[in-house]
Amino acid sequence: MEIPERMRAMVLEAPAKPLSAVKVPVPRPGPEQVLIRVHACGVCRTDLHIADSELLNPKPLLIPGHEIVGTIVETGSCVDRLSIGDRVGVPWLGYTCSQCRYCRRNQENLCDNALFTGYTIDGGYAEYTVANHRYCFRIPDMYNDAQAAPLLCAGLIGYRSYRIAGQDVERLGIYGFGAAAHIIAQVAVYQGKRVYAFTRPGDVDTQEFARRLGAVWAGNSTEMPPEELDAAIIFAPVGALLPAALRATAKGGTVVCGGIHMSDIPSFPYRILWEERVVRSVANLTRRDGEELLAIAPKVPVKTEVEVFPLEQANESLGLLRQGRVQGALVLQMS
Ligand SMILES: [Zn+2]
Ligand SMILES: [Zn+2]
Repeated sequence: MEIPERMRAMVLEAPAKPLSAVKVPVPRPGPEQVLIRVHACGVCRTDLHIADSELLNPKPLLIPGHEIVGTIVETGSCVDRLSIGDRVGVPWLGYTCSQCRYCRRNQENLCDNALFTGYTIDGGYAEYTVANHRYCFRIPDMYNDAQAAPLLCAGLIGYRSYRIAGQDVERLGIYGFGAAAHIIAQVAVYQGKRVYAFTRPGDVDTQEFARRLGAVWAGNSTEMPPEELDAAIIFAPVGALLPAALRATAKGGTVVCGGIHMSDIPSFPYRILWEERVVRSVANLTRRDGEELLAIAPKVPVKTEVEVFPLEQANESLGLLRQGRVQGALVLQMS
């Protein structure tokens, strides 16, 4: 297929300004990169944090988007693990140095020199993108492009948070039931865990959605669950949920903050942390997280609920996310 010289893209031209629909040159792949024709790209809350300047110093004239699904149309000279025609996914982690102390300790998610797709390098709100071949994943056949997109961040960060919450957890609380939660709840139920879903007070539609996906209980984030939790994951960017989750969590339990940004955490009494409760955050992902999730997702099988919009409606999609009334995940599809 002929590769055009220019492509449609949504670009962040200035902080806290809506994205602009523009025509830009199609990028050329470097030696380690593949050129991908983008079919679909998920809209993630992190995109909103970038657009709203809650995450600072994005690449100038950034093309956001880090849940990219597309087909390889050209490969750089050093690409040896992927070929033209392969359908791949590109996640948030776009490059790591393999030299720094974190990379050497198997913590590439904390790499000092990491590059992030749709933040410090261009992402997938465009018809084409380039990506380092070592950070692309093959997409399982059972997913169409739009359904696969949310697996690449919501799914991956969700999976890492879930893994860190502990494997022997029986009663798992999930605070904020959006894209990540709806994927990871299915994995947790498949692995025999009892899921307790917490939503904004009064959001009965999302509570019903959580029950449909197998949650044994769904209620308001201001409520205590009917049983103590062994662990909790907080996906909503709301610091006040941390003491709430600690209060609901049993001795020795872990509360994982899965988001990249959170409002300030109010002070809380030491006794709700005591008895070896653990609070920790999750940052980025490793390639191992991606490989594990993409292997387990078809077995569950994880079904992603997506709402699809054309590329040019990226701003409207971000607006829906800002209002917080989205069930499942939002995806831009390039026609
Ligand atoms: Zn590194
Ligand atoms: Zn994301």
